[in-house]
Amino acid sequence: MKLYSTKNRSNIVDLKEAVMKGLPDDNGLFMPTHLPTLSADFINNLADFSFQEIGFEVCKALFDGAIPDEDILNIIQKALTFPAPVVSLDNQKHILELFHGPSLAFKDFGARFMAQLMGYFNQKEEKDLVILVATSGDTGGAVASGFYQTPGIEVIILYPSGKVSFLQEKQLTTLGHNITALEVDGTFDDCQALVKKAFLDPDLNDSIRLSSANSINIARLIPQSFYYFEAYKQMNQGGDPVVFCVPSGNFGNLTAGLLAQKMGLPIHHFIAATNSNDVVPAYLESGNYVPRQSERTLSNAMDVGNPSNFARMVDLYNAVAAIETPEKSAWIEMKEAITGYTFNDVSTEKAVLEVQEKYNYTIDPHGAVGYLALKEYQKEHPNTRGIVLETAHPSKFLEDMERILGRDILVPERLSSLSEKEKVAVPSPNSYAFFKEWLLGNY
Ligand SMILES: *Cc1c(COP(=O)(O)O)cnc(C)c1O
Repeated sequence: MKLYSTKNRSNIVDLKEAVMKGLPDDNGLFMPTHLPTLSADFINNLADFSFQEIGFEVCKALFDGAIPDEDILNIIQKALTFPAPVVSLDNQKHILELFHGPSLAFKDFGARFMAQLMGYFNQKEEKDLVILVATSGDTGGAVASGFYQTPGIEVIILYPSGKVSFLQEKQLTTLGHNITALEVDGTFDDCQALVKKAFLDPDLNDSIRLSSANSINIARLIPQSFYYFEAYKQMNQGGDPVVFCVPSGNFGNLTAGLLAQKMGLPIHHFIAATNSNDVVPAYLESGNYVPRQSERTLSNAMDVGNPSNFARMVDLYNAVAAIETPEKSAWIEMKEAITGYTFNDVSTEKAVLEVQEKYNYTIDPHGAVGYLALKEYQKEHPNTRGIVLETAHPSKFLEDMERILGRDILVPERLSSLSEKEKVAVPSPNSYAFFKEWLLGNY
């Protein structure tokens, strides 16, 4: 498997380099030079494959010999340890539950797969690998648990102070060992900017082996494509076309869906659902991409003002590299394939209540944004079967959920037990100078 940078298609690396570096030197994003088409036989007989077997087949095709089959199998078996069931609300509306992992959110898939892959590639190295992660909530918890006690790997998590929920913070700050949390006095975008700057800093790269674990790492994206196949498998064959509705922030999940589609999964259409941070729906509408500061909302894991995977989406829709205004030509293609919707917090709260009352299903605020978008889309396209990605368990947003529903929410034991544990975090100003000094002093 070979990958190029979205900023320069002749900058080509192998899988190991892409995974270990995370980001190309030119500050683009890695993309596969070639996406394999999976056989019609596989696609038509998905029902014969377990979730792990699906992961194995997709990986094998993508990696194209970069990792021996038995090692892929081992990686898959350690990473894909929990199911991704589809629950039907009615004939038209279905929910893909991605929260059955240790941190109760879909990011467990990416984090666990990446941890396995990095552990595999790191086996023969002398020096520790230091992984930097900026999180707006869920990434950090998933990465922390995915990498916990992985030999030779240290994980540094930057999170915006006061902008993640109580239990999210506990997930980041209570593990210890090789996991360290930095509580930054700033926004998620500030955290992301600090991390991006560190990766481009020659002083740091000279003395520390740095890597990333955000959705910008291709190792995060790859396993997220598996569950599109898994969800499709669970829909009965031969019905109305299947559309996926993806509650989005950095657009990693949606990009992974586009990869699945390019690899041959017959996905009819994508719906990009956002909260009031609607930079991508606005782009789909106007053709102008205008990033801005993120605003705080109820669905805080989607509070992103400049989605990092947008460059990959544009890249996927640009067949030719050197187009003068790539974003414009990609736009024509992209808006055919993806419809964007945006909803504010008032609508989101109403949707949480509606799904509870109408379907007796407890949906979290992120999934609720997706539910609203699917409902809107199906007004125009009733003859479709929609699958909303339910990206997190409702109990991760306990205070808001209990306030909206007016009752207690059951918190799974693996999360509730954290509230007793002591928070340990390094208080940090929103300053690159501080961050750099701290890194050099500690690693
Ligand atoms: C990260 C996250 C999202 C956004 O996913 P992207 O891949 O960044 O678009 C949505 N919901 C939840 C619960 C998340 O944690």
